[in-house]
Amino acid sequence: MCGIVGYIGSRTAYPIIIKGLQRLEYRGYDSAGIAINDNEIKVYKCKGKVRDLELLTKQKPIGGTVGMGHTRWATHGAPNDCNAHPHRSMHGKFVIIHNGIIENYDHLKKQLAKKGYTFESETDTEVLANLIENFYLDKKVDAETAVKLALTKVIGAYGLVVMCADEPDKLIGCRKGSPLVLGIGEGEYFLASDSTPIIEYTDKMVYLNDEEVVVVTREGIKLTNLKDEIQKLVVTQVDANIDNIDKGQFEHFMLKEIHEQPTSIYDTFRGRISLDKRHIHLGGIADVMPRLAQAKRIIIVACGTSYHAGLVGEYLFEEFARISVEVEYASEFRYRNPIITPDDVIIAISQSGETADTLAAIRMAKQQGALILGICNVAGSSIPRETHAGIYTHAGIEIGVASTKAFTAQVVALTMMAFSLAKKRNMISDERYAALINGLVDVPSKIEEILLNEKAIKAIATEYKNATNAIYLGRGYLYPVALEGALKLKEISYIHAEGYPAAEMKHGPIALIDQNMPVFVLATKDKYYEKVVNNIQEVKARNGKVIAIVSEGDDTIAHMADQVIEVPDCDEALMPLLAVVPLQIISYYIAVMRGCNVDQPRNLAKSVTVE
Ligand code: GLU
Repeated sequence: MCGIVGYIGSRTAYPIIIKGLQRLEYRGYDSAGIAINDNEIKVYKCKGKVRDLELLTKQKPIGGTVGMGHTRWATHGAPNDCNAHPHRSMHGKFVIIHNGIIENYDHLKKQLAKKGYTFESETDTEVLANLIENFYLDKKVDAETAVKLALTKVIGAYGLVVMCADEPDKLIGCRKGSPLVLGIGEGEYFLASDSTPIIEYTDKMVYLNDEEVVVVTREGIKLTNLKDEIQKLVVTQVDANIDNIDKGQFEHFMLKEIHEQPTSIYDTFRGRISLDKRHIHLGGIADVMPRLAQAKRIIIVACGTSYHAGLVGEYLFEEFARISVEVEYASEFRYRNPIITPDDVIIAISQSGETADTLAAIRMAKQQGALILGICNVAGSSIPRETHAGIYTHAGIEIGVASTKAFTAQVVALTMMAFSLAKKRNMISDERYAALINGLVDVPSKIEEILLNEKAIKAIATEYKNATNAIYLGRGYLYPVALEGALKLKEISYIHAEGYPAAEMKHGPIALIDQNMPVFVLATKDKYYEKVVNNIQEVKARNGKVIAIVSEGDDTIAHMADQVIEVPDCDEALMPLLAVVPLQIISYYIAVMRGCNVDQPRNLAKSVTVE
């Protein structure tokens, strides 16, 4: 969701904060603002991109070595100048930036109104700024205490940075539900919603826990909780590659990240598959493997693209490890009073490790005694910290809002888990196990082959750039890929698209098919091949346009479909990793040709830290 960055040190804060906001803009981006202590706390903010904020501040030399900035993804109130952060309290004592939602803001607002407070914006954040100020003035306490008192009254989620006019050489950061990271440099400190804006200055990070409050001055750091108890500062060395946050030769992060997949997939299994390719060792879950192998049921909880990776996981775990699997949208799971027992294993999948619904779902399941595992990309984020064990995907920072390399990395992590669980449970022969591992190791070079075909795939995208609807069909392992293909297209090109199990087409969607309907069919040579060929015939009989993803050298479908895209052969259990790539490329080029902002699609944010 929104991006937060704060700085205190000896350098001029303004350029560090602006650059940090640019790095964070992928998280949410309908407005931006900064507050800097330049003799007094000055606030500049506006609707639009960080470059609009730069234009606004261009003529105004901004000094000062303490400050903070925010890119907003509106939850309360339209994206306009007034609702943009930072928000100043009514008497000017506090300036705050906030990521999250104050759920009881209306109740608090009414209470403050009775005390004479008025509000300029429609945001929940301004209410919090005034609540802090009210405690500060009424109770005559210092800024830190006022923040803590206010937060005990708050229901909801926050990643917060606070500046106080009376204590201007200080940043106060706190979090609950929404992430906040402290970066420790040489005589300087950073606060941010993730490590992206910090990693070029320091690799030493402290990931705040819920209800922790950090007070940062030039002299040092003090970490306490809301009860004022001193907390241990756990410093994590972050191994982030700065190249990941630059587009390099590519026009968009999404295209760069599509092309990174041979490397990111390799990085996901590197060190986990032994050199003789005969064995998978997942260090992160080794300790819990005996319990996992005894699980009566695995429940995968996730949202969006991660949910689709989870569906691939369901097919894998059931086929190879013979453990029953349910895949759940985290937002539904957490609220519907599900039956969870200590024999269950929950696997939470989230690129950012901060997805609010997924986080809440695992907390709930943990209380009921289940073993909780995580598959996340961002090291040190909330989900890995709250799970019993897990697997990092090591895909590198993903900036494009539409997930590509994180998806394939999640599928690789699930694939390795399913294969090693099958082995542990004696459900697989040594030969099959070795063959599957060899197949997985070959995936990066096969994706490279697909990427060599990019021009031809782009030409197909040109044909369908004016479509208003699209259908994606797949069976078995490729059904989740159909869902993911449709999601990619709608996310970035705003074309309405739906994914279906191919056999379901007859139960409704076939009514939509006419000469204007592109139907993307995943039709590689697997056990469903003949049936999918029949489905293609059914679409063609109704004049639909068929674009088929087929196995290399498939002549049969080449004669029926309007276009075919070949992918190299592999075991059907690994095909999702290959088949999704052409769909990512098609969505990318269709969106570019329609003039859409591919890396920052409208209304979307990268890391969904509000429910
Ligand atoms: N709820 C706040 C607002 O709407 C913060 C949103 C965000 O996380 O960007 O302004």
